[in-house]
Amino acid sequence: MFHPVDSRTSFPQLEEKIFGLWQEKDVFRRSIEARRGRPRFVLYEGPPTANGSPGIHHVLARVFKDVIPRYKTMKGYYAPRIAGWDTHGLPVELEVEKALGLASKKDIEDFGIDKFNARCRESVFSYLKEWEAITERIAFWVDLENAYVTMNNDYIETVWWAIKEMWDKGLIYQGYKVTPHCPRCGTSLSSHEVALGYKDDTEDPSVYIKFKVVKGLLGGLPKDKPAYFLTWTTTPWTLPGNTALAVAADAEYAVLEGEDDYLVLASALVGVVGLDGYKVVKKLAGSQLVGAEYEPLFNPHEFGVERWHMGSELKVQGAVKNLTYRVIATDFVSMEEGTGIVHMAPAYGEVDYEAGIEHGLDFVHTVDLQGIVTGSYPFSGRFVKDADPLVLEELEKKNLLFRSEKIRHTYPFCWRCDTPLLYYAKQTWYIRTTAVKDELVARNDEINWYPEYIKYGRFGDWLQNNVDWAFSRERYWGTPLPVWRCESCGNYECVGGVRELEKKPGFSGFKEPLDLHRPFVDELTFDCSSCKGKMWRVSEVIDCWFDSGAMPIAQHHYPYENKTLLEDGRFPADYISEAVDQTRGWFYSLHAISTLLFDRRCFNNVICLGHVLDAKGEKMSKAKGNVVEPWAVINKYGADALRWYFFASTAAGNVYRFDESMVAEVSRRFLSTLWNVYSFFVTYANIDHFTPSGERAKVEPSELDCWIISELNQLIVDVDKGLDGYNPTETGRRIEGFVDDLSNWYVRRSRRRFWKSESDADKLAAYTTLYQCLVTLSKLLAPLAPFLAEEMYQNLVCSVFTEAPDSVHLVDFPVADESKIDKQLGDDIRLAMRVSSLGRAARSQAGIKVRQPLAVNYVGIDLKGRESLERVKPQILEEMNVKELIYDTVENVAALAEDGYVVVGESPCNSAISPEVPAELLAEGVAREVVRRLQTMRRSAGFDIADHITTYYQGEAYIGQVMADFADYIKQETLSRELVEGVPEEGVFTERHKLSGYDIALGVKRLA
Ligand SMILES: [Zn+2]
Ligand SMILES: [Zn+2]
Repeated sequence: MFHPVDSRTSFPQLEEKIFGLWQEKDVFRRSIEARRGRPRFVLYEGPPTANGSPGIHHVLARVFKDVIPRYKTMKGYYAPRIAGWDTHGLPVELEVEKALGLASKKDIEDFGIDKFNARCRESVFSYLKEWEAITERIAFWVDLENAYVTMNNDYIETVWWAIKEMWDKGLIYQGYKVTPHCPRCGTSLSSHEVALGYKDDTEDPSVYIKFKVVKGLLGGLPKDKPAYFLTWTTTPWTLPGNTALAVAADAEYAVLEGEDDYLVLASALVGVVGLDGYKVVKKLAGSQLVGAEYEPLFNPHEFGVERWHMGSELKVQGAVKNLTYRVIATDFVSMEEGTGIVHMAPAYGEVDYEAGIEHGLDFVHTVDLQGIVTGSYPFSGRFVKDADPLVLEELEKKNLLFRSEKIRHTYPFCWRCDTPLLYYAKQTWYIRTTAVKDELVARNDEINWYPEYIKYGRFGDWLQNNVDWAFSRERYWGTPLPVWRCESCGNYECVGGVRELEKKPGFSGFKEPLDLHRPFVDELTFDCSSCKGKMWRVSEVIDCWFDSGAMPIAQHHYPYENKTLLEDGRFPADYISEAVDQTRGWFYSLHAISTLLFDRRCFNNVICLGHVLDAKGEKMSKAKGNVVEPWAVINKYGADALRWYFFASTAAGNVYRFDESMVAEVSRRFLSTLWNVYSFFVTYANIDHFTPSGERAKVEPSELDCWIISELNQLIVDVDKGLDGYNPTETGRRIEGFVDDLSNWYVRRSRRRFWKSESDADKLAAYTTLYQCLVTLSKLLAPLAPFLAEEMYQNLVCSVFTEAPDSVHLVDFPVADESKIDKQLGDDIRLAMRVSSLGRAARSQAGIKVRQPLAVNYVGIDLKGRESLERVKPQILEEMNVKELIYDTVENVAALAEDGYVVVGESPCNSAISPEVPAELLAEGVAREVVRRLQTMRRSAGFDIADHITTYYQGEAYIGQVMADFADYIKQETLSRELVEGVPEEGVFTERHKLSGYDIALGVKRLA
């Protein structure tokens, strides 16, 4: 006997039960251990930061990380999976800053770096329990107990080793460059971090500024009016830092005369700018403007700001009262927007800075690292964006503001704290990734991307446009940059490990216990190898993306331990999966580090997931209040439903428009359909005491059995291929299709075989076949819907075969018996389904129920189709509830419409029925209705499926005749021993119905 299965179930409750079973039987660990010694399959878990609650998008990535290794395990691979936690970096610091009410780096330092970092260390795992709980609840099987943690000393030591390797290869350098800087976090961001935070539709000022010409070029014009260079900018706060104007040498510039002044700008942009009241009085080549001098908008010396000269190094300049700057020619002046004259602030733009070096410009820095304007300007002490309107106000007073508008454009924001990024010139440590660009590209050639277009699209483009990795951070909670600097001679040394550090001459400052974080490492000093001066560590920590990108080696403390790591199958990964934004995050840092260190690819296969948006296609955010709480969904529909939704609803790589109703739909359409078939099987199998035989039962399969077994074997082939090809979507959809066929054709067409009272060979064949389908399905489903798969397997297999593996996750993946695949039969039935659905459509147009038998259904179809249908004719007749099929050409069947037939067509066939039903068939239709009502009444009365009953009826003479004519049929279908005409006795379950216009009272009574 199988455990009884109710046709209604709560999937979440069922899953809790299964989860307990896995715990009790230690199934995950055993599933791995059972394959020890077999070829490895390696998953790298991209480590999340556990200092916030897991969101629905984390569930998405985690179920994709789960499905492939489960499949590979069933295919016989040894696939240990190790969890990991990303513990360093700005996200962690920001949370702690918020909790402590600290607003700046100064606050942190006043608070104490040691105490601050201790708080960071504590906070990292504040949501660990929740992460572990959801990981287990969604059945992401990963070793949480032995998770790697990026803040551990061993982990950090490997990261140091990696940096030292790069240092020795000359790949690490310190550059004074303009970098994107977050003024709130007080640190630079790498270009891939910047790429994470672009926002469209950011409002900024769009202003036209006049620079007063003092010398050159305008000879020949009356001197009665002043002349100005007209420029355009969206960052007014950079204007006090202006030290040059740039033009395109070969472009044409126009001098326009207005009532009070002359304006100079590129001829091509005169129309775009719009200068009513001005007329062109002179034209010049850009080259003629070069060298012309103009007045600074704000002379830095008047506002307490230093002016530097740019050359091989920056030199402070003395105060000059009548300071002038000049026009230079560069090759980056746009004729698409602005005025063709570009405002240059070498402190705040990458190209500006480079031009500054090339042309020996001045360098004026009026903003500190917190984004606050320095000096004594009227707008000093303000954050730059707040200073913008005040800068404009000042210029207005000086009559230097030509026009002020607003613009909406794309602007980068800090991906962590949402502060607008500023471009600043400052010293930063870089990894020279551009030195290995060809290798980065070549190693990418070896990787399989799913979807494939990412490979040379988003990821390939990123590699093609590679820039050096700005990887130092002027922060606190991170892997310290292992570079020491001599306080006497300025010599730098990079240290690649703890042992190496301890062996340094004059090593001191060490305190137990070892902690490779700030401020403890900042205390460690040693003697300079060139001058014997004291070496102090530089203050920076590194980008936490470097930490996570080093996980393949750092989690194993390579090369200090696990020396064979690179050769013993643990590197590279066979598989990784994350969302598409990681092309510039973790995917990139993994790829870059392994290319830089070993010139090897880091992963063989990667599924790149689309983002999860809300139902309207909008980004989820706390501010909008449209964040989907994963627990709510899981508690309502279960983890299998959510997993299935993520696998099958849309192809990996596309965005998910998450809608709870779609998870409900998955549950209803797929899981419940399968559950109903399973429940149906168990219920009837128990009634008939069906026991599956271990060996292949010697049964005579019917054509219907052969067909579903053929489909089942084809399904095995397809699922195997789908998962082997990293395509859970296609796989899931194939399984859905099979379950639909199983339920809506095989079981429906077989109901009678299960229902009939005699236990003959045909019945046994039906049970054996359906049993085989359900058991095989449980194994095919195991990687995708592990809970439901386990439930079915436990009941169908474990309860019968004590020697079978005690979990579906311990069995081998099914192997197809391709000799059982009958493609012709599959095609025949597929066509039969199609023709049947046309027949149903015709009935519905004619207003005739499916239960009403019809005499003839005309089918218009070609000869080959007729042969197909003939082979499976009994199935079609029963399904369509007609006595006869008559074939003809499509044209002839279509012509029946003229004789009043209802015709429905869908190339390449059509179907026609007569709307007139003969009297004897009407009576049969009524008999069928009676059966259906009685069956419903049996359920309503709470009878068991196998209970025998007495049926009572009372009605008009016509009803009496039908009951008499179809007595045998009605008795058999409803397990009625007797049909009694008359008023039912007390205590009988009764109902009144109207059938085809006739009133009837029915009663059912259970027999003891
Ligand atoms: Zn920030
Ligand atoms: Zn020195």
